Amino acid sequence: MTHAAVVERDLSSLPFANLEVLIDEVAAIDTLQKRVHLKNGGECTYDRLCICTGAVPKSLAEHASVVTLRDSTTVEELVSRLPSVRRIVLVGNGGIALELVHALQGMQVVWVARHSHIGDAFFDRDAADYLLSELKTGWITPDIQGRSFGNAVGPRWTSALPSGPSERSITVENDCEVERLVTDRGDWPVTVKLTNGHSHGADLVVCAIGVAPNADWLPQELERSEDDGGVLVNRDMKTSVEGVWAAGDVCTVRSSELQPHWFQMRLWTQARQMGAHAAHTMAGVAEETGSGFTFELFAHVTRFVGKKVVLLGQYNGQRLEHEPESDMVSYSRITEAPESTFVRVLLLRGRLVGAVLIGETNLEEAFENLILDGLDLSTYGPALLDPDLEVDHIFD
Ligand SMILES: Cc1cc2nc3c(=O)[nH]c(=O)nc-3n(C[C@H](O)[C@H](O)[C@H](O)COP(=O)(O)OP(=O)(O)OC[C@H]3O[C@@H](n4cnc5c(N)ncnc54)[C@H](O)[C@@H]3O)c2cc1C
Repeated sequence: MTHAAVVERDLSSLPFANLEVLIDEVAAIDTLQKRVHLKNGGECTYDRLCICTGAVPKSLAEHASVVTLRDSTTVEELVSRLPSVRRIVLVGNGGIALELVHALQGMQVVWVARHSHIGDAFFDRDAADYLLSELKTGWITPDIQGRSFGNAVGPRWTSALPSGPSERSITVENDCEVERLVTDRGDWPVTVKLTNGHSHGADLVVCAIGVAPNADWLPQELERSEDDGGVLVNRDMKTSVEGVWAAGDVCTVRSSELQPHWFQMRLWTQARQMGAHAAHTMAGVAEETGSGFTFELFAHVTRFVGKKVVLLGQYNGQRLEHEPESDMVSYSRITEAPESTFVRVLLLRGRLVGAVLIGETNLEEAFENLILDGLDLSTYGPALLDPDLEVDHIFD
């Protein structure tokens, strides 16, 4: 399992003699002439093209008090506006919201999520409840707490947030959405009206409600996914058009190409793997490098609410909707010492198909192998999670 590190580097530092970098925007692609038209009027031809234009964030509304997070510039904008913020309304329930809610300290936070539990994209209710209880450490009754901020944690983007006292004041609004934003003349520059009838005045609204592939502007002959509009690719990252590949958030891997324990999620780790794999298949060296293996098992390592989180395989029952419930069983355990950890596994007909590991469990490698090996573990039952069980010995 690889840990993703995102490092900004100057383009001139890339050590490839055959690389020419054009700082411009692609305005259009002509797949017949194999030509790319640039915004400044220039153009270039290609033999093989890979589209990696990412995704665009879904937006709540155009409003001076709304920041939609999409890149380092919008994170910088958020950071620059925080010093004057007394109360922030955070809208969204994915990875960005989970990280932000922990990093935003020393101010009132109202967290609006349309699901019944936090982190719906990542966790079932058990794991979400565990994380929420961890988040509640240092939780205080909502009250205006001044204008300084708590420790930032997690990947680099949240570490840009200012630090200060660690107490939190969070109100969670579940099972609802933002109905509308009202510009106030009173205490708050904006009031957020929710579909559950509640209203919250705020200095700032942060929008993190997901992304859509940045594919609308691409030529129509590139086949798209009916589900999310992404450019459809096969397991070699090839699109439906000869000579054109796509990788990262802009693409959607055809469902017929998916391996049992892998599914697509728009993450750095997958974008990086897809980019490398596309490069290898474009250059015709994928077999030598064996990069196709990356699609065998979904694996994501991250930090939420300050804790290490490892997500493996179909950890949340992804792509198992058609399986009879009676064939599936899940076990979970919480340990308090020496460090608080949470482990939840999902088995299908006795075989491990997914796991959620929160905290320093040291189980990721063993569970990764158990999923890939497909060993029948039915005889273990809940004892599979017994802290005294030497999981490595199962392979013997
Ligand atoms: C605030 C935030 C936090 C995140 N945190 C995490 C995290 O903790 N872990 C994680 O795994 N993922 C995280 N993600 C998701 C992750 O950033 C994406 O999955 C990943 O960056 C996708 O990589 P990509 O190369 O496909 O697209 P991008 O990184 O979006 O890159 C696309 C590039 O294409 C350029 N582009 C677009 N259109 C054109 C055009 N017409 N011409 C020229 N250039 C163009 C864009 O300017 C951009 O530079 C986060 C995302 C956000 C917004």
